[in-house]
Amino acid sequence: MAVLPNVCGHNRRANFHTADRRYGRTVKNFVDLDRVSLRYGEDGEGTLALQGATLNVGLGEFVAVVGPSGCGKSTLMKVVTGLWPPTAGKVAVGGREVVGPLSITGMAFQNPTLLPWRTTLANVMLPLEIVQPHCSKLKRERAAYDAKARDLLTLVGLKGFEDQFPWQLSGGMQQRTSLCRALIHDPSLLMLDEPFASLDMFTREELWLALQDLWLARRPTVILVTHDLREAVFLADRVLVMSARPGRIIAERIVDMPRPRKLVTTYEPLSIALVHELREHIGAVRVQAI
Ligand code: ADP
Ligand code: MG
Repeated sequence: MAVLPNVCGHNRRANFHTADRRYGRTVKNFVDLDRVSLRYGEDGEGTLALQGATLNVGLGEFVAVVGPSGCGKSTLMKVVTGLWPPTAGKVAVGGREVVGPLSITGMAFQNPTLLPWRTTLANVMLPLEIVQPHCSKLKRERAAYDAKARDLLTLVGLKGFEDQFPWQLSGGMQQRTSLCRALIHDPSLLMLDEPFASLDMFTREELWLALQDLWLARRPTVILVTHDLREAVFLADRVLVMSARPGRIIAERIVDMPRPRKLVTTYEPLSIALVHELREHIGAVRVQAI
C-alpha cells in the first residue's frame, strides 16, 4: 500500500488498491473509482451527473479526461477529491476509501482565484498555512518554505515577480502562480480542471511546457480535465473519454510518446492521428446525446 503523507479525509481501514497492466508493465493504481454514480439533489430527484463511472489512475501517471460539456467531468473531480460523496460505488485514493476532502490533493481551476491582497509569493504559500503538517512547521521553517516557493516560481518562469500582486500579472502569469500554489505542499495527487481554458493559444502552449516540467520534476499523479484534445495528447500518458451525461468512461487511448515532449510533437503524425481519433469519439458521444 502507498504511504500517504498527512492523510485526512481517508478511511483508516485499507479498502482496495488495484493494479493494471499498462505501458507493457504492471501499474499500481493510486486512484480507484469503482462503478461510481452521483446524483445531485435528494430522494432520487435532481441531476444524475455520473453513472457507473469506473476509473483507475496509476501512481505518478498523468491522465487527461475529455468529454462533452456538462457530461460530469468536474463532478468526477469532486468525487475523487472527496468534496462530494458518491451516491453509489466506491472511491479510493492510495488504497484507502475517500470519506472527506483530501489534504494530499493540489487543485487548479479555469479561474486562478488568487487573493488580490497577497503577493505572488504569499499566494503560492497559502496552502502551507492550511494543510498539515506544514502549518505547524511554517513558523519554524519559514526560510526553507520560502525558498521552496521561490524555486517553484523560477521553474515556471516567474523569477522576479515574487513581490508583485495578482493585478500586476498577466492571465498566463496568474495561472502559473496558481499551478505553483497547487504544488507547494507536495501533493501526491494534482487535480486540474480546465486550468488553461481561458488563456490564448500561445500562453496555453507555454503553460503546457511549464506543467510538463513541473510534472517531470515532481511526478505527482495528475488528473487533467480539458476540452482541448491537443492539450490532452501533448500532456497525458493516457486520455480517457467520457460519455454524455450521466458520465462514465467509455474509451481510453495511451499516448506512447517519449518525454520531455516538444510543442512540435503536436504536429507529428502520431499526435494528429490521436487527436482525430479522440475527436471522432467525442463527436459520436455528442450525436448520441442529441
Ligand atoms: P462538466 O464539468 O463535464 O461540464 P459538471 O460535472 O460540472 O459537467 O456537471 C454535470 C451535470 O451536473 C450538469 O448537468 C450540471 O448542471 C450538474 N451539476 C453540477 N454541479 C451541480 C450542483 N452542485 N448541483 C446540481 N447540479 C449540478
Ligand atoms: Mg466542468
